[in-house]
Amino acid sequence: MKKITIAIDGFSSCGKSTMAKDLAKEIGYIYIDSGAMYRAVTLYSIENGLFNGKEVDTARLKEQIGQISITFQLDEQTGRPRTQLNGKDVEDRIRTMEVSSRVSIIAAIDFVRKYLVTQQQEMGKAKGIVMDGRDIGTTVFPDAELKIFVTASPEIRAERRYKELQEKGEKADFDEILANVKERDHIDQTRAVSPLRRADDAILLDNSHLTLAEQKAWLIKEYQKATEA
Ligand code: C5P
Repeated sequence: MKKITIAIDGFSSCGKSTMAKDLAKEIGYIYIDSGAMYRAVTLYSIENGLFNGKEVDTARLKEQIGQISITFQLDEQTGRPRTQLNGKDVEDRIRTMEVSSRVSIIAAIDFVRKYLVTQQQEMGKAKGIVMDGRDIGTTVFPDAELKIFVTASPEIRAERRYKELQEKGEKADFDEILANVKERDHIDQTRAVSPLRRADDAILLDNSHLTLAEQKAWLIKEYQKATEA
């Protein structure tokens, strides 16, 4: 069967990563979480003192960006990729609220986007890839054969993130998470470079009231249609 490129974009915490990971596993494709790459640059910036409150020292980040290497290593137990920053496993550290509350600031910087988009395009050259993010169908892979734009209400998304953090034993405050979800939506949609928007040819999926099984069945059907076309 011909290999295609699958772009999954949408709002934060609407389960894009879970659906993209599961789909990739099911159909034997590579899965890339582009958000993890923006999160890794954010963690690097925090750990290297490039943040002053919510302000980033963009001049220093620009000087250092070439030294930031982001790779993924498959976790044999879960079958899921773990993000590596300069060779160190940062998968858990990039998911904290400290990183979540700053990542949209980093993701709005043009040279950061250029740096990461080039790497993402390189990863997808051979097709057979599922990538999720905000600008995959619009900027990274505008020619992707299957584009999906996922959405759900902010409250439902905050509830999901809250449960996820609780299950990991992390401190979680629902109101803080909801405010973060809304703030990220706003920054992601209004930034000058590659704002979050649905590509004209993307299929809309509102998963507010779908179970994971229903969502998976829907996705497989769309994948089959796209490969038959
Ligand atoms: O997908 P996730 O919520 O982990 O992404 C974290 C943040 O990274 C998003 O809120 C967004 O600001 C940024 N991002 C982006 N473009 C992508 C993926 C993520 O701007 N392709």
